[in-house]
Amino acid sequence: MKIHALRLRDFNGALYVNFHAEFPPEMTLAEAHRQVTLLEDQVCQQLPGVAEIESHLEPQKPT
Ligand SMILES: [Zn+2]
Repeated sequence: MKIHALRLRDFNGALYVNFHAEFPPEMTLAEAHRQVTLLEDQVCQQLPGVAEIESHLEPQKPT
């Protein structure tokens, strides 16, 4: 799982987090979604001011 386009915006102390998560082609969408949900939980725990997290899942581009 690779993260890019990470953005943090602060509105009066409330943090809004936005990122894209790339998942490898062999990973199922269900598994990718599960991992992103775990990641969001971790971000919430480590950044107490988080009001909302928005993530986009996209397939990893072949390099
Ligand atoms: Zn993207």
